[in-house]
Amino acid sequence: MPTDEFTQARLHMVRIVAAYAEQTRAALPGGRLDERLLSAFARVPRHEFVPDELRPHAYADGPLPIGFDKTISQPFMAALMTGLLDVGADHNVLEVGTGLGYHAALLAALCRRVCTIEIIEELAAQARANLDRFGCESVESRIGDGSRGWPERAPFDRILVAAGAEEAPPALLDQLAPGGRMVIPLGPVESQLMTLVEKAEDGTLRATEIMPVRFAVLESYH
Ligand code: SAH
Repeated sequence: MPTDEFTQARLHMVRIVAAYAEQTRAALPGGRLDERLLSAFARVPRHEFVPDELRPHAYADGPLPIGFDKTISQPFMAALMTGLLDVGADHNVLEVGTGLGYHAALLAALCRRVCTIEIIEELAAQARANLDRFGCESVESRIGDGSRGWPERAPFDRILVAAGAEEAPPALLDQLAPGGRMVIPLGPVESQLMTLVEKAEDGTLRATEIMPVRFAVLESYH
């Protein structure tokens, strides 16, 4: 597909994502996906963050397989999660589950620094190459079990978890800054709920369930 066709397809995807978001607006800060976020979606070339053979499908609003039984999230889901996070330009953001780096690139377009952790070495290496090609210098990536967070880079204003957990990992709650927000799919695999966890200035935690979702489980080293 020539570049301008990718661009057209991407702008179409942004319109679909914005329309879907209408249904979840009660949960979104400001009641909608804001312009900064939509403009980041319009700029980041999703087709450069998917396996080559899937490029023609990069702008369909669906998850795509990236190998190792993993997927990159549906664009609407990525938009919803990012909207719920309410990312500010000066934020230090942690992403758990880099995949091929698409969501990290989106976050990088919105904030000061992104730290992203991927447990599968091959995916982490491909993600790094994709992020470098796209010029995402503010994204620091590493291989590891992201459920333990990244203590050397904490505290984080925002934490995005791209895999489902029964409960919010305690290390991530610890590394969330006061006033911080974390978005994470929580609950048993068959009945996960996308959840927004907010930490008040006094450290009190509050969880808001947003919608039922189906994510692969957050793995750990044993
Ligand atoms: N953020 C990606 C989504 C990738 S899918 C996007 O752009 O849409 C979720 C990823 O989480 C998978 O690549 C999986 O390998 C990774 N993952 C699962 N458990 C993890 C863990 N404990 N630490 C880090 N990454 C993990």
